[in-house]
Amino acid sequence: MIDPLMLADNLAQVQRRMAAAATRARRDPADVTLVAVSKGQPAAAIQAAYQLGVRDFGESYLEEALPKIADVTDWLAAHGAAADPIRWHLVGHLQSRKAGRAVGPFALIHSVDRVKIAYKLSQLAGQAALSVPILLEVNAAAEPSKYGFTWDAVGQAVPAVAGLPGLSLAGLMTIAPIVAHAELARPVFQRLYALRAALHAQYPAANWRHLSMGMTDDFEVAIEEGATLVRIGRAIFGER
Ligand SMILES: *Cc1c(COP(=O)(O)O)cnc(C)c1O
Repeated sequence: MIDPLMLADNLAQVQRRMAAAATRARRDPADVTLVAVSKGQPAAAIQAAYQLGVRDFGESYLEEALPKIADVTDWLAAHGAAADPIRWHLVGHLQSRKAGRAVGPFALIHSVDRVKIAYKLSQLAGQAALSVPILLEVNAAAEPSKYGFTWDAVGQAVPAVAGLPGLSLAGLMTIAPIVAHAELARPVFQRLYALRAALHAQYPAANWRHLSMGMTDDFEVAIEEGATLVRIGRAIFGER
């Protein structure tokens, strides 16, 4: 696990860079939330980051996430911190047959990447009498290796998803293509921002609050282009 002093240093640097990017774009730094992506990290690393003030954590794989969430939740209770809980974010692809296990533990599911999984989550959330906040994932570069709606398909998915009981649509998410320089990802972030504006105009009743975009290699550009949630792993916890 990462040395706690190095973790504190990394976190402070990320927070400084986030605030600087927001300020450059004349945005309020408080409008951008850091989601610390803790996949591949032990519960102890999450606890260390919690003690440094992080309250939003992202996980990609249910099998890995659920036992860690249970461990960390027990740890919070044992430290009298149950009243200051963690918001867990699911950022990885969710298989339909596992969807039931994602309803409940996660404050936000970023990775709704097909209408079928939205139907499934809606049904399960209804059974559990829960409302599950979700984002629609856009496959920005239409890379076959990645999940998500194409730019065109997301517009068609919104009317199918927005009214589903048990789901609360809260915006869009994307993973930018890996590029040699973060600047090259800027058009993708600009396009997601514009898409959200267009969808907002078309479907004003839905909540379009969030743009989840930006990772270790490109979060500053994403913030300059309007990200409200950045998902950062390696810059905080070190290489996986
Ligand atoms: C792993 C992952 C991240 C974090 O990536 P880093 O490059 O470590 O910052 C963000 N989003 C998703 C969807 C991921 O799978």
